[in-house]
Amino acid sequence: MYFKKLVEYSKRLRRTHSRNAKVELIKDFMGRLTKEEAKVGIHYISGRIVQGKINLAWRGLSALLTTAKTKGSPPELVEVNASLQRASENRGKAKVEVLKPLFVRLSQAERKHLVSLIIGEVQQGAGEGLVKIAIADLFGLSDAAIERAYLQKPDIGELFELLLDRGKAAVEKITMKIFSPVKPMLAQIAESIDDVPAAGDVFALEYKLDGIRIQVHRKDDEVRVFSRHLRDITTQFPELVRVARQLPVSRLILDGEAIGIDQKGRPVPFQVLSRRTTRRKEIAEAQNQVPVLPQFFDVLYVDGVDMTEKSYAERIRVLKDVVRDRRYRTARVKPSTRKRAVDFYEQSLARGNEGVMVKLLKSQYRPGKRGKFWFKIKGAHTIDCVILGAEWGHGRRRGLLSNLHLGVFDETGKKYLMVGKTFKGLTDKMLGWFTTTLPRYKVHEDKWTVYVKPVVVVEVAFNEVQKSPKYESGIALRFARVKRIRSDKTAKEINNIIDLIQLSRIALDEV
Ligand code: AMP
Repeated sequence: MYFKKLVEYSKRLRRTHSRNAKVELIKDFMGRLTKEEAKVGIHYISGRIVQGKINLAWRGLSALLTTAKTKGSPPELVEVNASLQRASENRGKAKVEVLKPLFVRLSQAERKHLVSLIIGEVQQGAGEGLVKIAIADLFGLSDAAIERAYLQKPDIGELFELLLDRGKAAVEKITMKIFSPVKPMLAQIAESIDDVPAAGDVFALEYKLDGIRIQVHRKDDEVRVFSRHLRDITTQFPELVRVARQLPVSRLILDGEAIGIDQKGRPVPFQVLSRRTTRRKEIAEAQNQVPVLPQFFDVLYVDGVDMTEKSYAERIRVLKDVVRDRRYRTARVKPSTRKRAVDFYEQSLARGNEGVMVKLLKSQYRPGKRGKFWFKIKGAHTIDCVILGAEWGHGRRRGLLSNLHLGVFDETGKKYLMVGKTFKGLTDKMLGWFTTTLPRYKVHEDKWTVYVKPVVVVEVAFNEVQKSPKYESGIALRFARVKRIRSDKTAKEINNIIDLIQLSRIALDEV
């Protein structure tokens, strides 16, 4: 199948509003794929690429969108996938070079679609959920069977391949198995405890530790440790193996975080700990330098019982039974009042943790899912940004300049790079001040935005830095809010992009 055919289908999906009609369209699309194309096609129609991410920065993507088109045969789906695969195996500029010969053969609409796929922003009103229904329909699987299989193998492409190769029965048989790691359950970010849609004894609060996610599998004396990305990291962490072997149950799967500790038993920063994951030699010496402690918070399997369908409350009860030594369990409370919750959050930050996790006690374990069951609330950081533009507000803020474009210096301190927008934290007084002051520095404007010279400095609080192909900087602030206007600072005194990256786990060469 040509890539352009996929773009057509995606367009039709966007225009189709009924859910059933969308499922029919997806089935029709799948019916046209050859076996070789199936795995690629199934990802693409769910709005994703097979590689997940290929870390292409905004600069690279925009270069690809604007290269000249040459004559050539239109690429097939598998060719697109092969190029993306090569790009994912290269670094920096080489990624763009590898993709160029592919992009020159695509029309503008096809290029745009491919970029949306790469950055995971395909807008067609159909994602994995509908594709899953279409697959179940196509192979005559019940909703429950596909849901259960998907929980253990949360990869539509892999499930589809399994169905093609081994049929319906193989998928119906999937359950939790020791030494077959599942993707860990993930958390949604929440700005503050007030944002979590629950109260009282509905949720548990845990320290959000700054370590490495571990999934520990044990069958008798054999122990395997898997990372968040399901890499086998057993050899690097003999002390985790030791702890797992001492537990009173011989067949189990535990989920937790491994933290590094210093001589006094205090947690070390993630950057120090992460060296242990890449280390392959002299493990004993590394163990001495940064000893590691497991902090288990969940149990997925115990003595032949799949725990993932049980509630978190039940899993916590079993965990306490299996991991009796408190030193190996994550600190947790079930706060009866909001004040208790806030105190625990502050205590966690004071101990040098990243924040807290809030987990609904009635929730099941959903491998690979980032649902409304687990929430992470991180401590806020603050930086000084310069304002590069401001958008006119809506509703109550009509006629006022409100959504501020925030910038920081690049590495050289010569250029300003945008890292986010926000209208949060602005008081009426600030809004009035921006509306009268910013137009004085106007460089140009359009219907929505006034772009200004970098003069006004604001102090901004935010919870997280994330990679973002949307901005040239390659990163964006999450939950940015204005704390105050820094009239005492000039645009030369603001923070730079390196400061921001250091506050995150993103490596400098990734953006
Ligand atoms: P993030 O990497 O910011 O998306 O946060 C999710 C990660 O926090 C998980 O993958 C774990 O590695 C880590 N984490 C730390 N403490 C906990 C905890 N108590 N429960 C779950 N995850 C935790």
